[in-house]
Amino acid sequence: MKIAICVKQVPDSWAEKKMVNGVLDRNGVDAVLNDLDEYAIEEALRVVEPLNEGKETPEHIITLISMGPERATEAIRKGLSMGADSGVLVSDAALAGSDAIATSKVLAEVISKGGFDLVFCGTESTDARMSVVPAMLAERLGWAQLTFAGSVKVDAANSSVEIARMTESGVETMSATFPCVISVIEKINEPRYPSFKGIMAAKKKVIETKSLADVGVSSAEVGSSGAWSSVVDASARPPRDKGIKVEDSGDGGTKLADYLAEKRLV
Ligand SMILES: Cc1cc2nc3c(=O)[nH]c(=O)nc-3n(C[C@H](O)[C@H](O)[C@H](O)COP(=O)(O)OP(=O)(O)OC[C@H]3O[C@@H](n4cnc5c(N)ncnc54)[C@H](O)[C@@H]3O)c2cc1C
Repeated sequence: MKIAICVKQVPDSWAEKKMVNGVLDRNGVDAVLNDLDEYAIEEALRVVEPLNEGKETPEHIITLISMGPERATEAIRKGLSMGADSGVLVSDAALAGSDAIATSKVLAEVISKGGFDLVFCGTESTDARMSVVPAMLAERLGWAQLTFAGSVKVDAANSSVEIARMTESGVETMSATFPCVISVIEKINEPRYPSFKGIMAAKKKVIETKSLADVGVSSAEVGSSGAWSSVVDASARPPRDKGIKVEDSGDGGTKLADYLAEKRLV
């Protein structure tokens, strides 16, 4: 079984972010592996590890795929230190300003040429948070999509997957045969911390860097000029109010309830 995991490098969630000309300014901000993609990596590792146990050469392998700037190799390296086998980074100056449609196009080209059985994704990136790339990938590849998985059961012998899909109204059990795209929610597992051994092993693992030409996508389809959407306006979040202090002179509860009612919170 060959598994691809789409991983994105994002600005650290705690970093102060600002928009410049409609694009998030990523310079000078610490960049990390998208938290939600760590769950996808953990889940895929849990699928292959029991199947590979005792085998000198693993039969079931995991490749991390990312589209981003050169430094996105750091995010891939973190995933490799968790236990994935190899990485592919698509990096090209023409990709700057690409929207979700272009991102899914590039990732789908890499996936379609890789002979993968399964693709794992996080449910969303913590920077753009569109939550659309997994569905777009499935559509582009013509594969089944099993999204928002709270649990995943892979039957490698029968080339099938069953997931519990977590929705606002309940839990749906869905299944599909290979190949398919799975996105996982953050409650699915507890991602492991890379061990020292894992970090050392990751240094020797191969990350292949590809240009747009290598993946066969024209520069006209990507970047700001190829984007189907544009950020028209952006404004900083207003600073938080100082808040109010409710003095309790025996009527604190009433004052608090009145305040919540006034704000339509109760
Ligand atoms: C006009 C415009 C300009 C933009 N310019 C830039 C820019 O210059 N630089 C930039 O970084 N972003 C840019 N973006 C944001 C970028 O388009 C989105 O990050 C991208 O389309 C993916 O959407 P998302 O992050 O919301 O993914 P989601 O759909 O929220 O992500 C879900 C999952 O898809 C996978 N995934 C998503 N993106 C990637 C990726 N790049 N590589 C691998 N896996 C991935 C991950 O598994 C992730 O958990 C721009 C957006 C717009 C609208």
